[in-house]
Amino acid sequence: MGVDKKILVIPGDGIGQEVTAWGQKVLETIAVNYKHNFVFEEGIMGHVAIEATGTPLPDETLEKARKSDAILFGAIGHAKYDNDPTLKVRPEQGLLKIRKELGLYANLRPIKLFDELLEASSIKPEILRGADILFFRELTGDVYFGEKKRSEDRNTASDLMIYHRYEVERIARKAYEAARSRRKKLCSVDKANVLESSRLWREVVQELAKEYSDVETEHMFIDNAAMQLVKDPKRFDVVLTANLFGDILTDEASQIAGSMGMLASASVGDSTGFYEPIHGSAHDIAGKGIANPLASILSAALMLDISFGLKNESLRVIKAVEATLKQGYRTMDIANKHTENHYVMGTDAMGAKVLENLN
Ligand code: NAD
Repeated sequence: MGVDKKILVIPGDGIGQEVTAWGQKVLETIAVNYKHNFVFEEGIMGHVAIEATGTPLPDETLEKARKSDAILFGAIGHAKYDNDPTLKVRPEQGLLKIRKELGLYANLRPIKLFDELLEASSIKPEILRGADILFFRELTGDVYFGEKKRSEDRNTASDLMIYHRYEVERIARKAYEAARSRRKKLCSVDKANVLESSRLWREVVQELAKEYSDVETEHMFIDNAAMQLVKDPKRFDVVLTANLFGDILTDEASQIAGSMGMLASASVGDSTGFYEPIHGSAHDIAGKGIANPLASILSAALMLDISFGLKNESLRVIKAVEATLKQGYRTMDIANKHTENHYVMGTDAMGAKVLENLN
């Protein structure tokens, strides 16, 4: 039996426009092949929305987002804003607002290196081979949202690192559930030797560990985790961490996968899930038709798995990406100049190869 789902597509700016088209085409192909009914709508956000309406997240887009089962997003950003930090209305405000309005408190970032791309990473292949990590980064608490202060003489500043029990518990549950369907290992990363908010974090995770006794729980300090990630990435399965530590660790981990053009992420709460490549709008290559569409395609795969529970279909997409890489097809960012049997191609040709492999 096929499923009925409403998907909002928000391509955004720059290469977001170019790559998201391929994430959508993959979803359309899966719908046909597996007899699902996916209905697509389109929304604007970011610089394109500011140009069209004066605001980075028009009410109409937010309304459509609320009514959809999942959102496939590209990227936002334009050079104009990067070079002028004084501009008050900015593309990224749209992204922050939609995350807040949809209550997206958990950011999931799978880090999995395709064997074909082992050489594209800056880490040695023998250390990387087989690494497969799923990060859960908390998104709505921590120093990002705690009280910010500056003394009257402007010489002292502080940011409050704050967590509530419920915030830790709801994301930890999601991480434990995910660990259950993977290798049943969860590593919770904190700084409980120094920070009170980390001691609360650890306390909550220790309590939940009893409930999820089939999952092996490990607690690790952030400094050690940052080191272990490049020393022995294979030791990790699910990694659970707070907003600030997650921000840093996931960027470090993205290097394991070689290129920004390969990594997808999901932001989820209790309703609509939001799926996007981790990269931005990449002004330097926008409009040239050379961006790697695989991160958007893998974002679509994440949506199928996490929001729709369609594991087989999700795996099918990942296999199609794998097959495309095995056949030697590469976009510029993942091409190995020293290998002769690589065919370097643009966004559309690469997307079309993945579609061929899906059929
Ligand atoms: P970026 O991720 O856009 O690009 C970083 C580098 O990676 C660039 O050299 C780019 O060419 C390359 N790259 C990124 N995606 C690629 C792909 N799919 N294929 C091939 N190469 C790829 O980051 P940046 O240059 O720091 O920022 C550009 C703009 O994007 C800025 O305006 C920034 O604010 C915005 N941004 C948006 C998001 C988002 O929408 N979530 C995230 C990060 C940055």
